[in-house]
Amino acid sequence: MNQQQLKKAIRFADVKCATSGGKLTEKRQQVLEILLKAKKPLSAYELTDQFNKVMDAPILAMSVYRILDFLESVDLVHRLKSENKFMACSHANDGCQHQLSMFLICSSCNKVIEMNDVNDKVKALFEQVEFTGFTPSKSQLEITGLCCQCKPKPPKTN
Ligand SMILES: [Zn+2]
Ligand SMILES: [Zn+2]
Repeated sequence: MNQQQLKKAIRFADVKCATSGGKLTEKRQQVLEILLKAKKPLSAYELTDQFNKVMDAPILAMSVYRILDFLESVDLVHRLKSENKFMACSHANDGCQHQLSMFLICSSCNKVIEMNDVNDKVKALFEQVEFTGFTPSKSQLEITGLCCQCKPKPPKTN
């Protein structure tokens, strides 16, 4: 993510916090920036470590957890349950629906892709759930496997 994209994402986050009745405080912004720049999801401890490396005022892991809770509540950050790690939402510029988030987790390089568009089959599944009278809360689907870079290449046939 370049500087310009980062600025844009922060501006979006600022608005998103405000519309949710919260505030993007300096520390919240700093935590979010680390996640936006990270190429892989980070644990709260890794995040605390990185924060303390780049900032003058140290932060406690406890505060990082609180900040992450807040950022997660406004959909700016996602917690990957299977890994217990955090990543910035990849829809930093649009009003994407988070009824169901879908993550593709590479078990080899740990890269995670957040699917931009939950396909119609999954939407239909949720509709079916609602049809039973059950109201699903925000949920996420984590699919582990191999990303296209880690997938073994098929043997060359002349
Ligand atoms: Zn998201
Ligand atoms: Zn991979």
